[in-house]
Amino acid sequence: MPQKRHLVAGNWKMNMLRADAVALAGALAARAKGGSPGCDILVCPPATAIGAVGAALGDSGVALGGQDCAPAEKGAFTGDVSPEMLKDLGCSHVIIGHSERRHGHGETDDKVREKVLGAWRAGLTAIVCIGETRSQREDGMALAVVSAQLAESVPPGATAARLVIAYEPVWAIGTGLTPTLADIAEIHAAIRASVPAGTRILYGGSMNPGNAADILAIPDVGGGLIGGASLKPDDFWAIVEAAR
Ligand code: PEP
Repeated sequence: MPQKRHLVAGNWKMNMLRADAVALAGALAARAKGGSPGCDILVCPPATAIGAVGAALGDSGVALGGQDCAPAEKGAFTGDVSPEMLKDLGCSHVIIGHSERRHGHGETDDKVREKVLGAWRAGLTAIVCIGETRSQREDGMALAVVSAQLAESVPPGATAARLVIAYEPVWAIGTGLTPTLADIAEIHAAIRASVPAGTRILYGGSMNPGNAADILAIPDVGGGLIGGASLKPDDFWAIVEAAR
């Protein structure tokens, strides 16, 4: 199967009130409209800003995603946002099982799987995050941990159109540290062997303008999930350029 365009996705996390989020979205939309970016671009704002960011992105071609969702469509789930609500706001994607949800909110593989089914029910593409901790890597368990998370977090019925995997070593997120290129290649190749043909496999964890080109050139890397650098338009755009 021919290599799809890379996907460069920004995870804005719990940052920015609407005015700043709209300004960032406007800056990205202007660049996207200014010339064909050569890759697919997605931004995932905090839930409170999704509507305003969607309006600011307009017809720029930059896609919109959520950072998490509940499994259910509706009901007595105070504080939760359903996949259908994200879809209603114009989202095409949703991040599920980010390490900050797994480790900060106790989300298990079972919960991730339920959420993925909810995302698919609503017609969203699920970006499923997996990755080992520092001690698991030091103990030589990275491949085993990631393989187990992959097997347990993705329900039957996956297709390349509705599943994206993000390999995000927990110890690389927000730390400035990254695995070696060989380590990223090893994990991505193992993931590739277990997902439907054509499924995008993103790398995430301290990707920046300085390391993006090398990481994105690894054959099984289909793009990046970007945290900190996605909040700076110049840095995010440099990664978009590197993904051409
Ligand atoms: C993330 O949180 O998904 C992430 C990759 O963060 P950062 O780029 O800041 O490491």
